[in-house]
Amino acid sequence: MRERPPLWRAALVGIVAAVIGGAALGFALRVDPDTEQYELSYQVKVLDLKNGVLQVRLHAEGMRSPNLYLTTVVVSPDQNRLSARFRLREARDLNGHDTPVEAQDDYWKIRAKGGGIDLRYEVWLRAGIDTGVFSRQMLSDITETSARLVGSDIFIIPVFGDLRNIRVEYTLPPHWELVHPFQCTATAAVVPDVKSLYHSAVGMGRLRTLERTVRGCRLRVAVTGRYDFQDRDLLAVLSQLAGIQMDIFGGPLRDEYVFLVGPHPESGDPEILHYFGLHYDGSMILLIDTNTDRKRLQQEPAQLCAHEFYHNWCGELIRQHRYDMNWFIEGVTEFYAYQTRLEAGMLSFPDYASVLSDRFHREYEVHPLRGKISLAQASKKVLIDRETTRYTYSGGLFVAAGLDEQIDDVTRQQESLDDLMYDLAVRAQRDPDFVLTRQTLEAALLDLTGHDFHGWFDRYVYGLESPHLPGYITQQMALR
Ligand SMILES: [Zn+2]
Repeated sequence: MRERPPLWRAALVGIVAAVIGGAALGFALRVDPDTEQYELSYQVKVLDLKNGVLQVRLHAEGMRSPNLYLTTVVVSPDQNRLSARFRLREARDLNGHDTPVEAQDDYWKIRAKGGGIDLRYEVWLRAGIDTGVFSRQMLSDITETSARLVGSDIFIIPVFGDLRNIRVEYTLPPHWELVHPFQCTATAAVVPDVKSLYHSAVGMGRLRTLERTVRGCRLRVAVTGRYDFQDRDLLAVLSQLAGIQMDIFGGPLRDEYVFLVGPHPESGDPEILHYFGLHYDGSMILLIDTNTDRKRLQQEPAQLCAHEFYHNWCGELIRQHRYDMNWFIEGVTEFYAYQTRLEAGMLSFPDYASVLSDRFHREYEVHPLRGKISLAQASKKVLIDRETTRYTYSGGLFVAAGLDEQIDDVTRQQESLDDLMYDLAVRAQRDPDFVLTRQTLEAALLDLTGHDFHGWFDRYVYGLESPHLPGYITQQMALR
């Protein structure tokens, strides 16, 4: 991988997810609700450690609209309803009077006399959690000594408005520490926009914190739990991987990243070690099996870190519409997780060849969906069921490897997938409205290589033909 000049740095423009019913409500307001600016702040207090209850105060002022419409990010229509997790305790207008709250299915409408409201609600973190959904157990969590909070689990947010610099203050139990990706003091943060508010994972408690500056970017790691490696070993792995990826794109996208590391809840099985990772823009959750030792860190945990960190560019900066291009986002990200470990010396080339060949023959080639449903079709259903997800991730990986080889072939080794990703990142930086679609991808490839990839995608992504293992992998395997 070669190093790049820094990307043109621009603020990332957050798009607030459209909320059901939101568009229709706009007509009733006198001011343009999507551009209205006012001050919004939150105070979060840990109320009851044992039952996992938080108290949140929301304060809005300087509003011109007569009503404030609030909602939560609905993860799925049957989970996380407003009522199960969020209990409204008090709503006052800025004249100090109780103000009516009209509860609908997906939002609350609150009259904002005096240009704002003061709202107090409780968050019952364990309420309404579907324990059958694996990832739901992995997000927010609270124990006697620490907590991990994901913004979407605790913040009730305005449906409308262009809200910036949202201040969040935390009241913590004694001896607890806060680790927040937008931290400004020991117990407060200023979050740039609503999207970042619900996309941040925040750590608090009796944490072991470490940090290192890589390429001018502050990496903070907050660890809970005991493992068979030292915290500094993990910091070394994370820093090395992050540094390599920053070099691919010419530098970091942010000034700071936070990694929240905790024990995987299924730790303790001597046969299989469990790992889980999730990326939230400036923060990352990493759950590691407690039996992991220093050497093992370079395997699954490193692959997870490299995968999640690469999503900063592929998925967050270069973004898709819904899951339309998930085959590309996930496939390319997984491909670069391997490339990053290779570059870091955490994976040897012969081992890489055998891992890839193994995944190809045992996971992809024999998959029941192969030849029945195209990768593009399957990738839209990803995360709905496990098998479709597996098919998309492994198919995506081999399409990414195939695309890399194809770019190499048609340009006589002048260009590679590295160059395509860099070009896409530049396009996304320059144009905040840039969305990765089949068309924008093909246009970027045409510019880069002078070749039309439409037919290639027709075969391997939108059709039923299977990608092959790259030639350099089969050659390496033949040497055995
Ligand atoms: Zn991913």
